[in-house]
Amino acid sequence: MLSSYRCAGFCFVFRRQSIVLNAGFNSKDGNFFMKENQTPALKEFLNQTHQDIFDDKSGTPADYIPELAIVNPDQFGIAITTSDGFTNEVGDASIEFTIQSISKAFVYSLALELLGTDKVLKTIGIEPSGEAFNSIRLKDDNRPFNPMVNSGAIACTALICQNNGQEAFEKILTVLSEFAGRELNVDDKVFSSENATGDRNRAIGWLLRNADNFDSDVEEVLEVYFKQCSILVTAKDLSIMGATLANNGINPVTKKRVIGKTTAVQTMSVMVSSGMYDYSGEWTYKVGLPAKSGVGGGITAVLPSQFGLGVFSPPLDKLGNSVRGIKVCQLLSEYFHLHVLETEDDVNQNIPITYDLSEIRSSRMRGQSDNETLEEFGSRVSVFELSGVINFIGSNFITRSVAEEEFQDFIVLSFIRVNRITRASIEVFRLFFDQILSKSQRVIVVDKEVVKDHPKGLFGEMVDLIKQNCQCFENLDQAIEWIESQLIAEYGECQNNSEDFSPLADQLLLKGLLNSDLETLQKNVTSIEYETGSKIIQMNEKADGIYFLRSGKVSVMVGDGIYVSGLDAGTCFGELALIAPDATRTANIIADTKVFCSFLSIKAFNEISIVNPGFSELLLRNLGLILFERLKQSNSKIIALSAM
Ligand code: GLN
Repeated sequence: MLSSYRCAGFCFVFRRQSIVLNAGFNSKDGNFFMKENQTPALKEFLNQTHQDIFDDKSGTPADYIPELAIVNPDQFGIAITTSDGFTNEVGDASIEFTIQSISKAFVYSLALELLGTDKVLKTIGIEPSGEAFNSIRLKDDNRPFNPMVNSGAIACTALICQNNGQEAFEKILTVLSEFAGRELNVDDKVFSSENATGDRNRAIGWLLRNADNFDSDVEEVLEVYFKQCSILVTAKDLSIMGATLANNGINPVTKKRVIGKTTAVQTMSVMVSSGMYDYSGEWTYKVGLPAKSGVGGGITAVLPSQFGLGVFSPPLDKLGNSVRGIKVCQLLSEYFHLHVLETEDDVNQNIPITYDLSEIRSSRMRGQSDNETLEEFGSRVSVFELSGVINFIGSNFITRSVAEEEFQDFIVLSFIRVNRITRASIEVFRLFFDQILSKSQRVIVVDKEVVKDHPKGLFGEMVDLIKQNCQCFENLDQAIEWIESQLIAEYGECQNNSEDFSPLADQLLLKGLLNSDLETLQKNVTSIEYETGSKIIQMNEKADGIYFLRSGKVSVMVGDGIYVSGLDAGTCFGELALIAPDATRTANIIADTKVFCSFLSIKAFNEISIVNPGFSELLLRNLGLILFERLKQSNSKIIALSAM
């Protein structure tokens, strides 16, 4: 199958994925096996791109440094290292060549690390020059335009010479090696060749010194500069070096931090504005990735947070950029829509699921009067279930929506299904949490890490602020249960005290029972008291009767202490014994407080039912209604959760 894609005037034919068949005999059973091995999608794209661009023989290798002119122009390698540390490479991605100007980006980041932004900015500008890389001109304030042109790069090397003296080059080599994740070396021939012919760069050096940009020995600075340009790298190295910038300064292969995050961002910024010499504007327009090229034929490009790309192909265009290198980057960016300004984040991905407590309740079963209170006042509580990665517009949407609920008593913000909060949204939430104490609503935060003070949680150090201003819970059910209790305490008619006995007549299961039947029942139940922590029902045991909870609270637990729900006085448990007499218990019931129950055995239930069939009929109908209520609850949950 052939499909074609067209970008920037080239038309490429993208062939179907190749499938490599691995076959052989299994060493254990001796059977013949066949295994299909698919080429990873990105690698397949790179293979195809390499094949299609290879035939473009335009451009010529740099010859102003004699040693560079003798390179084989057909060498062509591409590598991409993703920020999970995996490298896809094709062609001559392991052939070494000199890094040349690409070193400028990494040496600039070193200068920023060693001397700080202020000092570096005082010495070197950050504006595009609009001139060739080797232009002998400074800005009006006597600073070089930017660190990506020779004047800026030489000034940058001079800064490191001033800072590190004789060790300057060693330092540069060490740091570039850390970027690449392996020990790099210098190509002495290229170094000597450039040293012998680099008078234009010497002129720049003297111009800088004359302008008081530095006062070190020009020859010494130039020697370090020529050496840094002669460091040998491969396309694969460049991809890892780029990926280290993409990964905020941590080498994704060695996992070692090479530079700080701010330095990585500052370095990529000058790469965007000036990394491709006098082609930088068009590059940003068409490719839209921070990048740096070198006259050795290399280009490194970066997609922040995603990958670093290294290309090597010596023939250069008039501006000094690798012809094939530019094509690879342009194709890749256009085919996969990687331009850094082409983003797909939108507010829809952060629209929370919202409901109030008249629709959804906690798993706690409460007595009748409490249920009535919650039915009436549950709508005063709004729950926002947030999910995914919350970005700037998302956090603004969320906090705005909360502000619109200003007349609610409680707002629940559940972060349980949130994977990440971007730095921008952290600041939005900081402003939000900072001012909520002055509002009448109470904001409840549900997030495991906040509760546990986890420093690496969603909110980082903001945990304290949230804890000071909000009630926090580890899970949503607990939070809702707590709010329900607050509503009951505030609006409920009778203040439930765990010492009070809930009358049997108030049991939902017994609703509508004639007084005479109630009396019969009362005679047939046994009263049992349980101490806090005792197990009332053991999972898997035979279901021998039903428990009416008259006072106290119990928990329904399964497995290894997993909480399912809680029950209050006025509810009953073990009721399924009525419909499935041979059934075994489906959960453990544990007394959370001192508990008092009235127990009706199946035997007694059957005896009453024989004499009075209406009794069992009513109980079974009520049981049906109770189960129906629970089903309605679950359906409300499903509806609320699917209304995204
Ligand atoms: N060493 C080269 C020079 O200064 C680097 C230039 C480049 O790669 N553009 O001339």
